Amino acid sequence: MNKEAKAMKIGFIGLGNMGAPMAANLVAAGHSVAGFDTAAPAPEGVIMAASAVEAAHTAEVVITMLPNGTILKAVAAELIPAMTKGAVLLDCSTVDVASAREVAAMAEAAGLGALDAPVSGGVGGAAAGTLTFMVGGSDAAFAIARPLFDVMGQKAVHCGPSGNGQAAKICNNMILGVTMIATCEAFALADKLGLDRQAMFDVVSTSSGQSWSMNTYCPAPGVGPKSPADNGYKPGFAADLMLKDLRLSQAAAEGADADTPMGALAAELYARFVEDEDGRGRDFSAMLPRFEARGRS
Ligand code: NAD
Repeated sequence: MNKEAKAMKIGFIGLGNMGAPMAANLVAAGHSVAGFDTAAPAPEGVIMAASAVEAAHTAEVVITMLPNGTILKAVAAELIPAMTKGAVLLDCSTVDVASAREVAAMAEAAGLGALDAPVSGGVGGAAAGTLTFMVGGSDAAFAIARPLFDVMGQKAVHCGPSGNGQAAKICNNMILGVTMIATCEAFALADKLGLDRQAMFDVVSTSSGQSWSMNTYCPAPGVGPKSPADNGYKPGFAADLMLKDLRLSQAAAEGADADTPMGALAAELYARFVEDEDGRGRDFSAMLPRFEARGRS
């Protein structure tokens, strides 16, 4: 921990694939972390509590890293009345914008600070402490949580009031889902036109078709930097999680009356891939072998 940062008392609820390494990094930085999870074991250095309330009631910041908005709302309803006034409820899960805003309103009405701070960077970023946090909530709550973002991540962007962190996350991932599909279908077309994949990468990665999906996370094995394609499409970022985020973006678009035809089509394709084909448990870039095996009909 740097000299100015003080050790904080933290409650951490949800110690799964993401939460466990995030909590372990907080402990390694000198913070005191009490944890609770309905199933996962204790990460190194985290003292496990018998309930979420027990982990949270004396904490200055309570971090939640949970599967979805329904679970978040249930856990928050338990925690909020038990937390110390002035403490901050910091939700890092990816949930729908409406749930994030509801939880923040409940917390603020109880005299707590509230932040929605979903992350980008995946399990690797959580372990390395290099996550990016997209944060919604008040300046005061953001200032309290800042030293924790510095430990768990490399960047925290304050995106505005409550819910705006989730809004940024789902807009980003809608672009990611769409560009990954576009990159994969273009590779499959290039194959059929007799264009070598390396040549395709060399051109597109330095031309106007470039994107993170092509340049950093290339879906073609053996081409570009190392990515899940080079590891049999083992996630990485699972197609199931991409589907979750695309559905959140479509729910938000419906609520806000936003026209998102590409996002809607991406959600539909990932739904088919995960639910009817062989996409479940594979990386989201495994769309490439999917397109490769198909013709137009
Ligand atoms: P996970 O399923 O591994 O972890 C969730 C944990 O929450 C589990 O250990 C589960 O036992 C626990 N849990 C469920 N209900 C609970 C309750 N009522 N009380 C206490 N604990 C409870 O999921 P994950 O991969 O760690 O993802 C967590 C969140 O982060 C999700 O919202 C996900 O969308 C988001 N996210 C994940 C990734 C990724 O690459 N895995 C990347 C970015 C964001």
